[in-house]
Formats: sequence, structure tokens, C-alpha cells
Amino acid sequence: MAYTYAAPLEDMRFVIEQVLEAPRSWQACPSFSEVDPDTAGAVLEEAARFASEVLQPTNAPGDLEGCTLDALGNVRTPSGYRAAYRAFVDGGWPALPCDPAWGGQGLPLVLDAAMREMLSACNHAWNMYPDLLHGAYETIKAHGSDELKSRYLAKVASGEWLAAMALTEPGAGSDLGALRTKAEPQADGSVAVSGQKIFISGADHDLTDNVVHLVLARLPDAVPGTKGLSLVLVPKVLPDGTRNAWVVEGLEKKMGIKGSATCAVRYEGATGWLVGEPHRGLAAMFLMMNSARLHVGLQGLGHQEMATQNALRYAVEREQFRTPIAQLPAMRHLLLRAQALTEGQRVIAYRAALAIDEAHHHADADRRALAGSLAALLTPVVKAFCTHHGFHGAAAAQQVFGGYGYVHDYGIEQTVRDARIAMVYEGTNEIQAIDLLQRKVLADGGRAFAALLEECEAEAARPADGDPALADFSTALREQIAAARHTTAAVAAAAQADAEAPLRAADDYLFAMAHLLLAWAYAASARAAKALPASPFTEAKLQRMEYGLRHVLPQATVHWQRACTCARPLPAPRAS
Ligand SMILES: Cc1cc2nc3c(=O)[nH]c(=O)nc-3n(C[C@H](O)[C@H](O)[C@H](O)COP(=O)(O)OP(=O)(O)OC[C@H]3O[C@@H](n4cnc5c(N)ncnc54)[C@H](O)[C@@H]3O)c2cc1C
Repeated sequence: MAYTYAAPLEDMRFVIEQVLEAPRSWQACPSFSEVDPDTAGAVLEEAARFASEVLQPTNAPGDLEGCTLDALGNVRTPSGYRAAYRAFVDGGWPALPCDPAWGGQGLPLVLDAAMREMLSACNHAWNMYPDLLHGAYETIKAHGSDELKSRYLAKVASGEWLAAMALTEPGAGSDLGALRTKAEPQADGSVAVSGQKIFISGADHDLTDNVVHLVLARLPDAVPGTKGLSLVLVPKVLPDGTRNAWVVEGLEKKMGIKGSATCAVRYEGATGWLVGEPHRGLAAMFLMMNSARLHVGLQGLGHQEMATQNALRYAVEREQFRTPIAQLPAMRHLLLRAQALTEGQRVIAYRAALAIDEAHHHADADRRALAGSLAALLTPVVKAFCTHHGFHGAAAAQQVFGGYGYVHDYGIEQTVRDARIAMVYEGTNEIQAIDLLQRKVLADGGRAFAALLEECEAEAARPADGDPALADFSTALREQIAAARHTTAAVAAAAQADAEAPLRAADDYLFAMAHLLLAWAYAASARAAKALPASPFTEAKLQRMEYGLRHVLPQATVHWQRACTCARPLPAPRAS
């Protein structure tokens, strides 16, 4: 059976148009007032065609071939990557959500999110190259000097030049405060960058003539820690056409995403220019990281969709005990759970994208500010929860294939391998959990948390019109809201007595919050499906949402309870 992809267009449109009612939000955003559901639908259809017809055929061969570093230090991507990238650029896809002033199409990020989901499903490794582009564009646009903008922005927006994000060093992964790369100011206003970076995705490749690095480095007068970091733009090719002074020292051999070049880079006094204020690099970089984190969450979502739809096709064809295995109760559970989780996460991830759209484009300043806080709160949940299930969901789908799932030709084992990294990069999932609880919930005075609960309460309060099924969704959502309030208060109280308490609660807290969001997504999806004329799609949707209500949401209780035990100290692990 071929491992193939059919973009879930009907579900994507259902989420965007019916569940999130994005077209209403577009009307409140002057930049999107021309966007209507037909335009959005046409964009998604074309993106789906590119993903499944152009990109997906390069996935398995690219995994086998991998990247190479030639004797001259140039990185080569697998065969077919360049042609696919050319088609992507020619189709105008890189610039989808970028500002028309810089050559962008000015379309909502929520459409870009759906496209990212498709690209990740069809070829995660290839998608690593253009995936960083949007964050780099946003960072240069918000923090770059006029000169940097005029030199780089339009070329990055169009995809003519790609970007890389260079943070990690051998001694500094999660702890960015330990970074040592130096930036020495030069008489002409540039800086000379020296140091070693590792694990840099797409630092070099043969897809574009130039690659724009955004590098975190320290100026000579930097204080220790993260407050001493500055952001520097370091291109591969300098404006005078000469090659900049950095080299790729090696490519990592890795478990998955083998078509993505993961580079060790040495900067040898490379020429760069500060992006934003000196020593304010991390704040500037965060703009890039938030966008990148949403994209990484969408990678997890894409993997789940790919794994689930292929597992389902296999389960319908494969017979054991003279029965298609899709009919066996254990496999039914597995497949329904995968569908309920994937579809619930799609609502949450697209909600985050919609919040980012509103934060940038809503006509009302208060709504922009609130949407910004909500986006900041949702981003770590989307990153961590969707990537956790990207890997674990793909591994569960692999089980459906029995022994064939372990065999390369069936495709699913590549999805499992590729999905694993998303739990680690762009801030590990543990770092996301700390970010959510400490910075987005406890430190912001509860504003975003209150806004989120208000949105959930509004959903729970929608009239069920005597429909007992809809009433069950509302009840489940109310239970989650109550648990969220109780647990957040308990963790905040524990934090008063012991600053480490939230760190002990963080992982369970993030998973519990994700279940609150799933409860909201299931309720909103069920209501939206009931409002449509009955069809095979709405019938299947209601079955899956009901499955999520009864079989996925009970897991929330474990996470809320465990988060509440954070007042108790943990023993240190011992070898014996
Ligand atoms: C394929 C690939 C691509 C990558 N692409 C890029 C890139 O493009 N640019 C770039 O700059 N980097 C990139 N990275 C690096 C990646 O972001 C780091 O690997 C990641 O940040 C983790 O750092 P580390 O590997 O040093 O792990 P460590 O920081 O050593 O973490 C090890 C473990 O400890 C946990 N841990 C660490 N600190 C805490 C804490 N405070 N609380 C709780 N748990 C904690 C982590 O969650 C993790 O489980 C890439 C890595 C890979 C493998």
C-alpha cells in the first residue's frame, strides 16, 4: 500500500469557517477585508495540490539520500528538493502571510498555518528550509534598520533567499545565557562575529544563492546571561558579492529529517549587522521563536494527520481473522483516538494562528493587545502538545501496521522518526511547559488566562436547545474550566512558599491545559457540526468529537491532579 497524502480540506475549511468563524474575524481586520471563504478555499486547494503532488514524492527518496557536504564545504540537499523549492517560490507560497509592502500576499496566518500542516505532513525535512523564513521576515521587519530591511526583507519574503536561526552552541542548548559567540563592533558600523554554533538547520544548502543567518552573540560590553545577548544578521553572501567568513564544519547524522541539513557552523570574524538594540537580542529573537514555535506545533499536527489517514487506509484493507482490522475494537479505539486528537488539535493550533492574525491586524487596539496575550499563552501549548502527539500519535498509528509498520517501504516508520525532533528543538517541550506556567499564566497577572477561560465559558454557555449530546459537551467543558481555576490557584499558592513548585507542576499543567482546550474544541466542533445540514462529514465529526469527550478528556484528571501535588518536593534520582 502506497504511503500517500490527501489534505483534509473539508476539515480544514470546517475548522476555519464554521468552528473558529475566521471570516467574521477577517471582516474586523482591515488588511483582510477582501478575504472571503471562496478565496481561502482556493488557496487551500492549491496548497494541497503542491503538497501532495509536488512535495510528497520527494519525501521517502530524500530520507534515503540525505544531505551531503562536498570537499569545498558546500551543502547539497537531496535530489528533487531544488525543483520542489523552485515550484514553491514560483507559486508565491513563501510570501503568503507577508506584508504586500514587501512583496507579500497579505493573507491571514491561519491559511499559512493550514499550508504548513500540509507541507510538514508531506515532507518535514524539506519544509525545514522555508519554515524559518517567516520568523526571520517578522524579526527583520520589526527590529531591522531601514538599510537591513531594504537589503533583505523583500528577498526573504519572496523566498529568493532563505534564513537560518543560529542560537545553539556545544555548551548552550536550553540555557541560552551560556552562549559564547562574540560580536566585535567595526569602524563601518558592522560587527565581526566569531564562534561556534551547532545543530543549525539549513545554515547552508543549494536551494538559494544566499542564506541569511540570525545569530545570537555577545558584544564586548555584554553582561553575563541572557541580558547580554545581541541579535546579528550574518548573510552567506555579502552585499559586494563576496563569500562571508563562516564555514560549515560538518553535518549531523541523525534519526530523522535526513533531508534537512543540520550544520555545525564556525564564524571566523564574519561580517554582520545588529538587528535591534544591542543586548536586546533575545527579545528580538523571541518574535522569530514564537512564529517558529507555532510552525513546529503544526509539524506535529501534520505528522498526526499523515500517520492517521494512512493507518486508516491500511486498517480497512488488511484482514485478520477474516475481518478488516479496522473493525476490531482495539484498532477502532486506536484510530478513533488518533482522529479525535488530531482534529481537536487542529482547532487549537488554528485558533492560535487566528489570535496572531488579530494581534497584528484587528481594527481595535484593545482587541489586538488581548489577542497578543492569548497567542502568547496558546503558542507553548500548541508547540508541546501537538509535537508530543506528532511523535506518540505516529507511533500509535505505526501499531496498526503490525510488523509492516517497522518496514521502510510502508512509510510510517519515517513519519515516526521525523516527528521525534519536534519535541526537542525550538525550546524543548519541558521549556515550553515552564514558559506557559511561569511566564504566560503566573507572571502576567492572569490576564491571558482569564481571557481564555472567558472564551471557554462562552462556549459552554451556548444554548444546547434541548440536545442532550451538546449538553454533555458543555458539562465536560465546565468541569475542565473548574479544574483549571482550582489547579492554577493551588500552583500559585505553592509557588509563594517554594519557587521550585511551578517547575515541578509545569509538564502536567501544560498537558492539562491542552485537555481544557480539547474540551473547548470538541464542544465548539460538535455545535458547529450540528448547525450544518446532516452529511457523512458532520455525522463522522460528531462521532469523533463524542469519542474525544468520552475517551480522551478523562486523561485530563490525571494531569490536573498531578499538577496539584507540586507542593511536595521531589527526591533526586539516584543510580542505585
Ligand atoms: C535536528 C535538529 C535541528 C535543530 N535546529 C536548530 C536550529 O536551527 N537553530 C538552533 O539554534 N538550534 C537548533 N537545534 C538545537 C535545539 O534547539 C536544541 O537541541 C534544544 O534547544 C535543546 O538543547 P540541548 O540539545 O543542548 O539539550 P539540553 O538543553 O541539554 O536539554 C537536555 C534535557 O534537559 C531538559 N532541560 C534542560 N533545561 C531544563 C529546565 N530548565 N527545566 C526542565 N528541563 C530542562 C530538556 O528539556 C531536555 O530534555 C536543533 C537540534 C536538532 C537535533
